[in-house]
Amino acid sequence: MEWAFDGGRPCLDLVNTLRNRYAPEGVEMLTSPEKLAEWLSLAGLTDGQVPVTEEDLENAKWLREAVNRLVTTQPARPDVDLVNKTADEPLPNAHLHLAGGELRRTAPTPRNPVAAALARIATDVVELVTSPVDVRVCAAEDCGLRFADASPRRTRQWCSMSRCGNRAKARAHYARTRG
Ligand SMILES: [Zn+2]
Repeated sequence: MEWAFDGGRPCLDLVNTLRNRYAPEGVEMLTSPEKLAEWLSLAGLTDGQVPVTEEDLENAKWLREAVNRLVTTQPARPDVDLVNKTADEPLPNAHLHLAGGELRRTAPTPRNPVAAALARIATDVVELVTSPVDVRVCAAEDCGLRFADASPRRTRQWCSMSRCGNRAKARAHYARTRG
């Protein structure tokens, strides 16, 4: 199974690293610290692949499940606290870089790149759940991906047209022509 980055928000893309959530267990894609390093890099949350520990992996999964509950169920205090605690990791501010007499703006490397990446995800959660954007679950029965629906009428049904939308259309067409 390939990574899915169709959530429209970093926090939902993290939620979608546990796939097939329609099933009781789902399919875990963050199976190792290396997998989390790969995901963080592909998500653009770290500058290339950074060292990730088992503890980082656990923290990412705790955050992930808290986010999932916050966007799909009645919000609960422990999940709110976890998001706030994760967001507390200080992020380095932009630095000045002087090269050949020219001033440039650079992004300094955070002391703990993984904690910084999770803090950015936590901040994204804060913005998402306090915005008018709807979080939806893909309408395909065998998908379960979450996505932010910012369409004008909040009518988006599929996580992506290529993954689920076209399949659903093909099924409907088959049912029509058969019946
Ligand atoms: Zn889908």
